[in-house]
Amino acid sequence: MQVPIGISVTIKLCCIDYGFECDFTSEGDIEQVIEEFGKHTNEEHGIEYTKEVLMQVILRKTR
Ligand SMILES: [Zn+2]
Repeated sequence: MQVPIGISVTIKLCCIDYGFECDFTSEGDIEQVIEEFGKHTNEEHGIEYTKEVLMQVILRKTR
């Protein structure tokens, strides 16, 4: 996966931000968070976010 150049920040995604009643958060570098959060939503909530979708969400959040 390609990470846009110039983005090397620590980010945080919270399940609750996406309307889940869940206290799961994932924090770290972008690739790690995408991996963790995608896995969590898939396994716990049955919703599969693709890496592309999560990347869009993250980019919107950090802007
Ligand atoms: Zn969750």
